[in-house]
Amino acid sequence: MEHTEHIVRILNIAVVTHDVKQFRIEKPEGYSFIPGQATEVSINNDAWKNEKRPFTFTCLNEQPYLEFTIKRYADHNGVTNQLHQLQAGDELIIRDVWGAIEYKGPGYFIAGGAGITPFLAILRQLHKDGKLDRNKLLFANKTAADIICHNELSAILGENMINILSEETNDQYVHGRIDDALLQKIIGDFHTHFYVCGPDKMISDINDLLVMHGASPDRVVFEK
Ligand SMILES: Cc1cc2nc3c(=O)[nH]c(=O)nc-3n(C[C@H](O)[C@H](O)[C@H](O)COP(=O)(O)OP(=O)(O)OC[C@H]3O[C@@H](n4cnc5c(N)ncnc54)[C@H](O)[C@@H]3O)c2cc1C
Repeated sequence: MEHTEHIVRILNIAVVTHDVKQFRIEKPEGYSFIPGQATEVSINNDAWKNEKRPFTFTCLNEQPYLEFTIKRYADHNGVTNQLHQLQAGDELIIRDVWGAIEYKGPGYFIAGGAGITPFLAILRQLHKDGKLDRNKLLFANKTAADIICHNELSAILGENMINILSEETNDQYVHGRIDDALLQKIIGDFHTHFYVCGPDKMISDINDLLVMHGASPDRVVFEK
């Protein structure tokens, strides 16, 4: 398969949480994506240009730049650790867009940590189009400080954003993990769309529970 590579300059880097940064980069002419799609990214220098990692676009397609929201794994010197040391003016290489998760209709978005990124793109687009109603977000994190774009998501979703924290007890949030009891409490009708994205284990556990409750497997969309 042929892959087109685009060298793009970083326009701006902003801090999102203690281990997540937002990168706005140049948008190549004619480049477009569907909310939820991703591309293979590498850093354009001799040491790192062949180390490709997938990241999801978190801006709207109509914006004049591209945006990634990237969590850093500081425990080893991988690509995310390097990305977090870059500055505006440095260059990335991006490639063709490919599908990860695509919106098919109102339902439940279930995310763990950086698994929110495809949903950021989808929820931002739905908000802009005035179509966010009837969508709910269940967002699992370790602590409140880990919640990516917390203020923005709670502003656009209101009561339809449910935060679940595994390592912090706080009156404002549900404590624990997304388990069967929680799903049954929150979800009235399992015959709807489910979009699940997060760590492998979380995705497979939640998928098993959703299938058990009769969610149709083609309505359970997975991050590969
Ligand atoms: C379709 C898709 C879209 C994605 N979109 C996003 C996104 O928008 N934003 C985002 O933040 N992430 C996203 N990810 C995840 C992202 O691709 C990974 O976080 C990234 O590839 C990690 O790269 P890395 O080189 O830093 O770590 P890698 O070296 O690739 O390691 C990945 C994992 O292994 C562990 N690991 C590997 N080697 C070591 C080591 N020596 N010591 C300790 N731990 C180790 C790391 O802790 C980490 O969890 C996406 C993934 C997919 C599949």
